[in-house]
Amino acid sequence: MPGQNFLFVPGPTNVPERIMRAMVGGMEDHRSSRFPELTLSLLTDLKRLFQTESGQPFIFSATGTGAWEAALCNTLSPGDRLLAPRFGQFSHLWIDLAKRHGLDPQVLEVPWGNAVPLDQMERMLAEDTNHTIKGVLLVHNETSTGVCNDIRDMRRILDDTKHPALLYVDGVSSIGSIDFRMDEWGVDLAITGSQKGLMLPPGLGMVCASPRALKVHRSATCTRGFFDFADMIKANANGYFPYTPPLSLLYGLRESLNMLFEEGLDAVFARHHRLAEGVRTAVQAWKLDFCAQEPQLRSDTVTAIVVPPEFNAAHVIDVAFRRYDLALGAGLAELAGKVFRIGHLGDLNEVMVLGALAGTEMAMRDVNMDIVAGSGVAAAEEYFSRTDPIPKKKVSREQLFYEGHSTGSLY
Ligand SMILES: *Cc1c(COP(=O)(O)O)cnc(C)c1O
Repeated sequence: MPGQNFLFVPGPTNVPERIMRAMVGGMEDHRSSRFPELTLSLLTDLKRLFQTESGQPFIFSATGTGAWEAALCNTLSPGDRLLAPRFGQFSHLWIDLAKRHGLDPQVLEVPWGNAVPLDQMERMLAEDTNHTIKGVLLVHNETSTGVCNDIRDMRRILDDTKHPALLYVDGVSSIGSIDFRMDEWGVDLAITGSQKGLMLPPGLGMVCASPRALKVHRSATCTRGFFDFADMIKANANGYFPYTPPLSLLYGLRESLNMLFEEGLDAVFARHHRLAEGVRTAVQAWKLDFCAQEPQLRSDTVTAIVVPPEFNAAHVIDVAFRRYDLALGAGLAELAGKVFRIGHLGDLNEVMVLGALAGTEMAMRDVNMDIVAGSGVAAAEEYFSRTDPIPKKKVSREQLFYEGHSTGSLY
């Protein structure tokens, strides 16, 4: 098809030109005396991304799933109990992985699209007076439903119940797009992947471990080979890897972090919020329902949209793809056919989002859904023009305020 493919799945996301160029190059000796410069700069800057001073970042050749596995097998022992709400496909897959490692997750079933029941989790932690629960698994941003959790609430519950369980947070579709503060929120294992907010191809699974997690690591007995933190800590200390690292992706990661810091993390988060608000405004104009039930749960990186029961969301997705070269996210598992998702994360701006909304509208109309042409686009456009534009230079939160941009809608 002529023109650009409109990639609006919530990962993989668009890879910007700058990153593509940074990844093109011949191979080199990863044991040269110059190579550590790259590794050490990446490890230092990943800490800025995770917003941690004391955490230790790890970069594995893997996807987010591999990073889940690395976090679990390095810090737990077979039979360890975990507390894990299941509220979408990604929390489901993580729980499944934990079981395969011989762990014992206590699963809290939550209707997909609903909030995690914090009161129930608090009760379970309070009742666990012998502290048999070793970890809490929480997906920050459940990409299948578009529900984003407040990790601060989870931390407060652990603190209030004085429960020592480690806090494992999947930030695959939030880190680098939605504010994520590892230290401030007391996250012990933070997990992400390369193909979402970091705007890279898939292939890197990253974990950041708190000092407490590293301490537990020494006595944890789950079997680990490739993902052993110990090998990585030893080699990384000098800027090397225990095996051949994915060189192209590491150069891409260098460029991705440069781009995020040049824009400024606060500005990146504000941009994602603004684009998400535009999408949400369009969904309301279409008079369709959100999978994420309560407005404050709705994610700034992905919106899952429910189609009326007489329509098949998979049909909308296929028409969008075949006729308009627009890739929308499918409904996963129990949401298959019921929802489609618009991913709005990574290298995006307003006009790109408006284009995706236009294509979505056309596809919905093509399958005879009752959508007024231009209604969603017009609503989003109105929203974008009556609110502040995306800051195009690096500005701090204070500067934004000082320069008279309203902060209310952005933060
Ligand atoms: C994409 C994603 C993952 C990881 O998936 P991979 O395909 O293994 O990279 C994990 N959790 C969430 C929330 C995700 O969005």
